[in-house]
Amino acid sequence: MNKGRTGETTTDKAIMTCADFQERLPELFETKADLSADEHLKTCENCAALVRDLEYIAQQAKLLLPIHDPSPSVWENIRTAIRNDESSKSGPPPLPSVPPTGV
Ligand SMILES: [Zn+2]
Repeated sequence: MNKGRTGETTTDKAIMTCADFQERLPELFETKADLSADEHLKTCENCAALVRDLEYIAQQAKLLLPIHDPSPSVWENIRTAIRNDESSKSGPPPLPSVPPTGV
């Protein structure tokens, strides 16, 4: 177990962050890249789950729209969904606030 949180200033381009990966996702889907071989997906369950979701969405989109490829607007919607998902994660937790227990 190496959390490796030393060296914040290291510009390690070999390691793709989740943000980098998700930014590339629409492109990867469009080019039909082999996502199962992606190094980031092998190490990141979070993004692996996201890809499974997107694959499901893409499948549904193709079923609804029997065309060769989903329209760019589909990917725009996915991008927007990712952004919203990310921003909601970085915001306050969606748990109901516990009222202070006064005595
Ligand atoms: Zn990730």
